[in-house]
This record gives sequence, C-alpha cells and structure tokens, in this order.
Amino acid sequence: MTPVVALVGRPNVGKSTLFNRLTRSRDALVADFPGLTRDRKYGQAKVGEMEFIVVDTGGIDGSEEGIELKMAEQSLLAIEEADVVLFLVDARAGVTPGDIVIAHHLRRQQKKVFLVANKTDGIDADSVVGDFYELGLGDIYQIAAAHGRGVHSLLEQALTPYLEVLQQQADGDDADADEWDDEWDDLDELEPDEEEGEEVSQPFADLPIKFAIVGRPNVGKSTLTNRMLGEDRVIVFDLPGTTRDSIYIPMERDEQQYVIIDTAGVRKKKKVYEAVEKFSVVKTLQAIEDANVVILVIDARDGISDQDLSLLGFTLHSGRSIVIAVNKWDGLDQDVKEQIKLDLERRLGFVDFARIHFISALHGTGVGHLFESIQEAYQSATRRVSTSLLTRIMQMAQDDHQPPLVRGRRVKLKYAHAGGYNPPRIIIHGNQVKDLPDSYKRYLMNYYRKSLKIMGTPIHIDFQEGE
Ligand code: GDP
Ligand code: GDP
Repeated sequence: MTPVVALVGRPNVGKSTLFNRLTRSRDALVADFPGLTRDRKYGQAKVGEMEFIVVDTGGIDGSEEGIELKMAEQSLLAIEEADVVLFLVDARAGVTPGDIVIAHHLRRQQKKVFLVANKTDGIDADSVVGDFYELGLGDIYQIAAAHGRGVHSLLEQALTPYLEVLQQQADGDDADADEWDDEWDDLDELEPDEEEGEEVSQPFADLPIKFAIVGRPNVGKSTLTNRMLGEDRVIVFDLPGTTRDSIYIPMERDEQQYVIIDTAGVRKKKKVYEAVEKFSVVKTLQAIEDANVVILVIDARDGISDQDLSLLGFTLHSGRSIVIAVNKWDGLDQDVKEQIKLDLERRLGFVDFARIHFISALHGTGVGHLFESIQEAYQSATRRVSTSLLTRIMQMAQDDHQPPLVRGRRVKLKYAHAGGYNPPRIIIHGNQVKDLPDSYKRYLMNYYRKSLKIMGTPIHIDFQEGE
C-alpha cells in the first residue's frame, strides 16, 4: 500500500512550501469535493524509487471556532488517514500555544509523528530548536523547506519501514523479471526467424485483473460496483473497515478473474451514509496506485470537473491503465448528449487513448462492455513485444514518413526494443534521435499504438543516441 504522509502545523510554518517541494511539478489534487474542506491538498511524491501520497492539511492553530473549527476537524481526519505525520513548527518563532495544542492532540493518536523544525536557514538552529523538546514528541528534525535542506533525509527516516518493504518486493520482482528475460533469450535463440518467433505474448494472462472504480461522490460508483458484481454478491462481504480501507472483492466473468477495488463502500449499503463519510480522497488515491486498471466514473449531468481531471492526472502519473465511464446516460435528450460528447472531446483530447463508455449503472446499459475495455487496457499495458517486431514497426513508420533533417543531416532510427511494461516503454536507438521534433515523436507513438493495438495505457518512448 502506498504510504500517506500528512503535513500538520499552524498556519505559516511552511507546510505549503514543503508540499510543493515534495510534489514538484506533479499536479496536486485539491480536494474541493462537495462536503470536504477546500483546504486540503493531495499530491504524489517520491523518495528514491518509492512513491507516497502527501497531504497538506491546511492550518490548525488551536483556537478555532465556527468554520475554522470545521476546517480543523478536516485536518484531524487527514491525520487519521495518514501513516506518518510530519508536525511542522517554525524554528524562528519558538514554541507557541498553537504548537502545544496540536502536540497534545498528536500525542494521543496512535501515529508515527515526526517533529520538524522548519526555517532553520540563516539562524543558529541548534541553539533554538531545543525548546521544542517540551512538546513531548521526541527527536527534532531540522529542515529548511524553502531551500530543501534536510528534507530528503527526513523523508528517508520517516518512511524507513516502507522503503524496506519496497526493497524486499523489488528483490522478488527482479527474480521474476530475470526468469522472464531468460525465457525470452531462449526463445530468441531457438527461433531467430522473425516469422516463427513468438513476437507478442501475455505472460500475466492467468492473473486476476485488479480494477478500481473511482470518481467524485455521487457519480454512481456504488451503483456501478453492484452492477458489475451482479446484484446479490455484495452482502457477503460485510467486513469491518476504517474510512480509508478499500475492500477487495474477487469476481469472475467469462472465465477471466477480476478483483474489484471498492472505494465506494458498497458493503455499507444497508446504512445511510453521507457522501462525506464514504468518500475519502486518500482511499481513492491508494486504490488507483494499487489497481492495474482504473475506471474513472464521470457524471454525464455534471460534465467534466476539475476534480475529474485531477483524478485522471493522478492515474496517468501513476502509470495506470484507464477506462472512462460516463454514467447516468439514461433519460438525456439527444442534443444534450451531443453537447456532452463535444465537451468530452475538447477536455479529454489529451487522453485520446482511453476508451470512453456511455453507461447507465442504474439500468445496466453498457456496463458489460466495460469488461472488454478493462481487459484490453490490461493486456495493452502488460503485453510483451519482441525486439524484432518493435524494430520492424519502427522501420515501417520510418518508410512511410521520413524523419526530418536536423542541421542538414537526416535523423536515422536504427532499432527499437522494449524498456519496460505497465506502462509500456519503448527505447529507440539511432543517430541524432534526441533532436527529433515532438511532432515526429508523436507520430511514432501513434504508429506503435495503431500497429500494436495499444489502448487504455500511455506509451513512453525513450531515444538513445548510437548503437
Ligand atoms: P503554511 O501556511 O504552513 O503552508 O506556510 P507556507 O508554506 O505558506 O510558508 C509561510 C512563509 O514561510 C512563506 O513566506 C514561506 O516563504 C516561508 N518559509 C517556508 N519555508 C521556509 C524556510 O525553510 N525558510 C525560510 N526562511 N522561510 C520559509
Ligand atoms: P457514489 O457516491 O459514486 O457511490 O454514487 P451512488 O452509486 O451512491 O449513486 C448516487 C446517486 O446517483 C444515487 O441516487 C443513484 O441512484 C444515482 N445513480 C447512479 N447511477 C445512475 C444512473 O446510471 N442513472 C441515473 N439516472 N442515476 C444514477
């Protein structure tokens, strides 16, 4: 599970500065979902190879009333959902009453809390941070978020247990990959003839496909989950869970195994829950990270919102495959439907590789076809393609449409091979390939997409100079 790190502290201690540094260029998902505070921000970040989710909780200063109190409650909820809390204080301001209130609250939580003194640049930090021991939270980590000082080592410490698990998993994966590579080498040796070799294969065809149904509150996730499961399977899984845990429900259809990652809390159907209670951004983001394929549900009647785009962005950044389901397609006038389709084309043009389904989860219309796109997206992302086939496709593309001249010399593509899967990565070697214009890169990408029928997943192409 992708760990969640919450940034907590009074206003002005540097939480946003740290958040921005950790998430860099990646899009932050700003949670202004109905019923949730506007002030929480979610982003993806990395230490080394490890991805984590970072949540900026907005400020609490301990003296809130009215609307501010509501916001403080939201911060508290974010703390509850986090695996690790970074409690920021301002080294220059010293200990304030607000810090004491927050520390009091944090000490009562069963949470790993790291006390972080920010803004230690340009002051004699060692002589001032000692005061913060009175907060009773142990060691004090010194950083300067604005300059990045101390940030990396802080995160390494805070996420140590997760990094260790990741390392163990990586060791296991490497073993699998090696095994597979060996097999592939054998194949190449045995069947050097391009016509006879197995050029495309699906090594994971027997594994269940994990898919997550995600979207804003009330778009119809629970209704869709029930539809996809078949009405009466759900009740069986009446398991207890916290707000942030998704439930994993195995199912089978047309001899393919699936696991639905249920973010909507279908199991709680018997009770009446407010959208706010059942909708958790952290849960949604973790489900995306853990899925092979993400079904993003959009409400046809609301059009595409910024939150839909954020969820889409998060999915693409995570490299997950995607299928888009435009729900509540029932009972709409023809001209409204046309309008919605135009809007989708305009705003979702950048994910033209994703299948879009117009469905009614309520009536079941179009729901069956979603499974076909899930399979297609999964297979596209995990399919193995041989070096010879990738190179042949590259040559065909080059024959159809020559690369341009750069500084008087024609760019030459020599050969291509796979550089990874899920999402697929293709590495092309050649002369001056780094200088290829973006338009030609896009052309190559589309050529691969069409020839290999890759849908539902991004493709990355890297270019390498020379042999
Ligand atoms: P937030 O309200 O906790 O999100 O705080 P901000 O990130 O908005 O930061 C508040 C102020 O502190 C801004 O003016 C920042 O530029 C400044 N600040 C943040 N980090 C540092 C730091 O490491 N050193 C210094 N000197 N100033 C900082
Ligand atoms: P969730 O919060 O995303 O899980 O949304 P729900 O599945 O709880 O659905 C929210 C509301 O939308 C409920 O009143 C559903 O009956 C309604 N709804 C869900 N799917 C459809 C649909 O395809 N058409 C129509 N007209 N209403 C739907």
